[in-house]
Amino acid sequence: MSKNIENIVVVITGASSGLGEATARYLAQKGASVVLGARRLNKLESIAADITKEGGKVAILATDVSKAADVQALVQKAISSFGKIDVIVNNAGIMPLAPLAATKVDEWDQMIDVNIKGVLYGIAAALPVFQKQNNGHFINLSSVAGHKVSQGSAVYAGTKFAVRAISEGLRMEVGGNIRTTILSPGLIDSELKLGSSDEATSQFVQDVYKDAISPISIAKAVAYAIEQPDDVDINEIVLRPTVQEF
Ligand code: NDP
Repeated sequence: MSKNIENIVVVITGASSGLGEATARYLAQKGASVVLGARRLNKLESIAADITKEGGKVAILATDVSKAADVQALVQKAISSFGKIDVIVNNAGIMPLAPLAATKVDEWDQMIDVNIKGVLYGIAAALPVFQKQNNGHFINLSSVAGHKVSQGSAVYAGTKFAVRAISEGLRMEVGGNIRTTILSPGLIDSELKLGSSDEATSQFVQDVYKDAISPISIAKAVAYAIEQPDDVDINEIVLRPTVQEF
């Protein structure tokens, strides 16, 4: 039997904009209780106000996914607010693209901290709960850059390859009633494209993102993965604009 999104509890990191925000709004409309984490509390408050106004159920917590304790607190917020967690969407991410020769070491550290460690901290926080419940679903955001490297994306792609490797390992290790989905989007319109501090790369990214599609496409893909019956695990989704070549 397909899973009803109504009454499930979904934790979403990076829910203050882009894909996370769209997913939060969409799942809340479908009746899920959503628990939203990101650093910008004012953004979360405004999204939560909209969701509540439309009759949705939502909790928020200021969360920096590069801090394990923050992600633990977000998961605990879900349990204290709604009694359980059915799904965690490890979505928070940054994309300060630049060639390696620009040696933006601080940005390499940030990408590793948010894009890789943030996902690991989400796993560390939710897995014990899922094992106790004998049920749960990880949805981890990789990228087409987790499938193919391009110039200027070496470190970002490295983090997204890592998300796929970690997620596949997780799937094989936990199995049972715990599902793992890797979601790899192509060009989706969000704030992500603004992350590059390298002028030439930033110009290139703005240009490429003219082909971007709406984040609602990602929200619907997340819903599709969740809605499958418990014995069906959608392991990977790659989703691009139809016109995107890479
Ligand atoms: P946005 O920049 O619009 O959103 C990123 C989100 O991550 C924001 O809510 C931001 O919130 C949050 N975030 C950033 N750093 C942290 C942190 N340290 N702790 C907690 N939250 C953080 O980008 P997208 O919505 O596009 O990106 C979402 C995910 O999708 C990322 O993992 C990205 O790599 C992936 N992706 C996106 C694609 C695209 O084309 N848009 C393509 C492929 C993958 P705040 O600043 O408030 O903390």
